[in-house]
Amino acid sequence: EPLIRLNGVRKVYRSGAREFVAVSDVTMDVHEGDMVSLVGPSGCGKSTLLKILAGLHDADDGLVQIGNASSAFTPGRDVGMVFQQALLLKWRTILQNVMLPAQILGLPRREAEARARELLAMVGLSGFETKYPYELSGGMQQRAAIARALVHDPKLILMDEPFGALDALTREKMNLEMLRIWGESRKTIIFVTHSIQEAVFLGSQCAVLTSGPARMADHFAIDLPYP
Ligand code: ADP
Ligand code: ADP
Repeated sequence: EPLIRLNGVRKVYRSGAREFVAVSDVTMDVHEGDMVSLVGPSGCGKSTLLKILAGLHDADDGLVQIGNASSAFTPGRDVGMVFQQALLLKWRTILQNVMLPAQILGLPRREAEARARELLAMVGLSGFETKYPYELSGGMQQRAAIARALVHDPKLILMDEPFGALDALTREKMNLEMLRIWGESRKTIIFVTHSIQEAVFLGSQCAVLTSGPARMADHFAIDLPYP
């Protein structure tokens, strides 16, 4: 059974009498452990779809089912998000930033810290625990943001243009890094990108959104060099 099932999902923004269809008739399944890329032109509803998956928006129509018999799903607790900007808190160290979601969800401090240190090591930031965000490059800040999104062990990671603000070289390195992180964390990841190249490189499946109905493109079958 898929972790996520979307069927005919539609979202309309309303302001006054005006309506704008941001997402129309999106149908796709996402299985546990998939890394799904969402591509499509600006304004086609990618961010809106992520917000629906994150539980920040309700769909106006269609089925949105997240979680299944073997994996219950609590929005908020089970979602980790990464945005184009790292959005680290400037007055907290890298370690404190990464620990925060776990602490908010009630994990004891020592456990949150241990988990944060482990994840910082995984994203290649060992030794930077006591630094502040401004002491890190953009790519490193984004890696910290990825560690933070993983710290409370969510079942689903949503990324909205995670590497869009990085320079081309850093972005390419982050793409490689991301494949490793995905392989190690074994998370279900859905990410939005403007880059077809990135979508094909990173995605085990790729959904192409248009301003009309969207179906999971069946698939860019990539043999990934991971267990
Ligand atoms: P994408 O992420 O693919 O660029 P979005 O999901 O951000 O697309 O937006 C889809 C469309 O919905 C866009 O045309 C945008 O202008 C519109 N839109 C997004 N958010 C709102 C909102 N809160 N109110 C009204 N229209 C919105
Ligand atoms: P929400 O709709 O839950 O308030 P959003 O993040 O979708 O949250 O919207 C953020 C803000 O952007 C809202 O206050 C919305 O009114 C405003 N907005 C209005 N029109 C647009 C648009 N075309 N594209 C993006 N945001 C818009």
